[in-house]
Amino acid sequence: MSELNLILLGPPGAGKGTQASTLVEEFDLPYIATGDILRAAVKEGTDLGKQAKSQMDAGELVNDEIIVGVVAERLRADDTRDGFILDGFPRTIPQAGALDQKLAEMGRSLTAVLLIDAPDDEVIKRISGRRICPEGHVYHVDYDPPEREGICDRDGEPLTQRDDDKPEKVRRRLEVYHEQTAPLIEFYDERALLHEFDGAKPKDEVAEHIRKTLSTLRLEETA
Ligand code: ADP
Ligand code: AMP
Repeated sequence: MSELNLILLGPPGAGKGTQASTLVEEFDLPYIATGDILRAAVKEGTDLGKQAKSQMDAGELVNDEIIVGVVAERLRADDTRDGFILDGFPRTIPQAGALDQKLAEMGRSLTAVLLIDAPDDEVIKRISGRRICPEGHVYHVDYDPPEREGICDRDGEPLTQRDDDKPEKVRRRLEVYHEQTAPLIEFYDERALLHEFDGAKPKDEVAEHIRKTLSTLRLEETA
């Protein structure tokens, strides 16, 4: 397959980042998570961070133009030549339209959109137990605990809870997902790009299902 240009779609907490780490290892593709990019910008106090902070704190989406600019620039980098994994982008129909246009300008297109879905009550449990290290490694206090409580297995850094993972923010983020992001399911289904996975299953099962789907896509391409 010439390029593997993938989008991970699904509600917050469904396991997109968790599955991405397996995909990154397997396919050696750059992982572009807009939430991670924005959190880093907020931490560093850059202009982008200053523009995004209040919306992120409120559980709202940042402005389409701002985030499209960030992603378009990132996709121009050389390391995306063989493909990329986008997580958390696009999140609105206008963002999806802008992505199509930017890719077309580069003579590229999407390979597949991987929808990792899970019901609200499950994602609420996952988000409330999610802990991250400053490098973005993800754990769950019950489902995927680190060896030493509160410490990242991989780099020994302390684990914290994301501000927007606190219960009062989670409800709004889910509403925003259903109102503004879920319409992308139909958008990509109509373009025959959508592949759906049951994110409520254990993470290894979800990973195996994704692996099989991507192998089938590759076989179809070479057929
Ligand atoms: P997203 O990137 O979609 O917001 P994450 O990958 O960060 O979601 O996962 C959210 C939380 O759920 C994390 O704490 C993660 O450890 C946990 N998690 C991810 N996948 C599963 C799964 N299949 N079963 C149980 N817990 C999971
Ligand atoms: P995430 O890490 O994907 O859950 O994103 C955290 C927050 O970053 C979201 O609640 C939004 O405020 C913001 N964000 C991330 N990606 C986007 C995007 N594509 N469009 C708008 N806002 C975004």
